[in-house]
Amino acid sequence: MTRIQELLAENERLAKELFAPRADEVDRSRSFPRKNIKELGQAGLLGLTVPVEFGGAGGNIGDAAQALEALGQACASTAMVTLMHYCGTAVIAAKGSNALKQSFLPIIARGGHLTTLAFSEAGSGGHFYMPVSEVTRNGEGLRLRSQKTFVTSAGEADSYVVSTRKANASGPTDLDLYLVKAGTPGFEVGKPFEGMGLAGNASAPMKLDDVELRDEDRLGPQGTGFQTMMEVVLPNFQVGVAAVSLGIAGTALQFSTAHVTGRKYEHAGGISLAAIPRVQFLTAEMALELRSARAYLAETIRRAGTGDPEVMLDILGIKARAAEAALAVASRAMTLGGGAAYGRRGGLERVFRDAQAASVMAPTTDVLKEFLGKACLGVPLF
Ligand SMILES: Cc1cc2nc3c(=O)[nH]c(=O)nc-3n(C[C@H](O)[C@H](O)[C@H](O)COP(=O)(O)OP(=O)(O)OC[C@H]3O[C@@H](n4cnc5c(N)ncnc54)[C@H](O)[C@@H]3O)c2cc1C
Repeated sequence: MTRIQELLAENERLAKELFAPRADEVDRSRSFPRKNIKELGQAGLLGLTVPVEFGGAGGNIGDAAQALEALGQACASTAMVTLMHYCGTAVIAAKGSNALKQSFLPIIARGGHLTTLAFSEAGSGGHFYMPVSEVTRNGEGLRLRSQKTFVTSAGEADSYVVSTRKANASGPTDLDLYLVKAGTPGFEVGKPFEGMGLAGNASAPMKLDDVELRDEDRLGPQGTGFQTMMEVVLPNFQVGVAAVSLGIAGTALQFSTAHVTGRKYEHAGGISLAAIPRVQFLTAEMALELRSARAYLAETIRRAGTGDPEVMLDILGIKARAAEAALAVASRAMTLGGGAAYGRRGGLERVFRDAQAASVMAPTTDVLKEFLGKACLGVPLF
């Protein structure tokens, strides 16, 4: 077995044996899955995608997707925190200066550092690639005032990849990305967002009030933040959310299958729900949703490694497709699961709530379809 295969096998073991049994408690208490993240770190899984030269496993986007699907199946909050960490890590590895990479990547690889993305702002909502905050140059230094929103791992992460308009920006996508360490003066975490699903992902707004930034903390040359979002963040995020969504859908289908095969009717001679043709038909539809979205994800990952420019259409499409599959499968599982699914103790109700997140996470399904439609028609995206 290669190191990556060993890590992925360990990820699956942790997900099944430890994280799945803890998922209801994480949800009920709305607590950050600190123990799970610590165990992922100790196993080397927070460093799955860190380049080998910095002590990581050098995993690619497909390896990350495999890990995230297994985590999504077990505990969607843990999966979301890990996904945002992988996205932040990808930006540091691709665009950090040598000094920044040396300071952050080895500790990430050792499991001692959690990072995340702080892109969304109330001022631009789902259009996260057009932040309204702007840095100002103050002599040698830079100052940032920004109101971030919905940040995963807010107050829990050790660093944040923050987006802002460049000083004296020439337009709404003239951006920079900076790595800001937790505890930097002027940095404040607001009241938790309390989303209906992913209750443990510590989603909250963040205020950066006159935070001092250094040029050395910028990820990439000035004015290249938008390009980094499109070339580095978008593929990792889209594929990762799709994988988490398919993990969630897989759990919903498993729940439904177990329920309809186990539910027997005494009044009808002990037949199970699974013997009813309409239930068989609906189960087939759920399985087709999941299997076709999984095949599309695998094809997107395969093409992402070929440098094919057309793959951008699939990178846009896969998150929309997988988010819709998660909604469809979880919703159908709720119906077929009857009272057992509807009740809080059954576990499916949590999965159904978790399944809602991907559609509203930016780029939302509707915005992705607008982009995809424009791309198909040759209309400029921006
Ligand atoms: C669980 C979760 C975790 C998140 N984690 C992070 C994180 O770690 N970091 C981070 O930066 N952000 C994060 N976000 C924020 C997220 O990416 C979005 O920015 C946020 O969900 C958008 O919410 P909004 O209410 O501002 O959307 P709005 O912009 O108000 O959009 C509302 C609706 O309008 C629709 N809409 C808008 N424009 C168009 C259009 N042109 N065509 C059609 N429909 C349109 C949208 O599709 C959406 O359905 C997270 C969100 C969630 C739910």
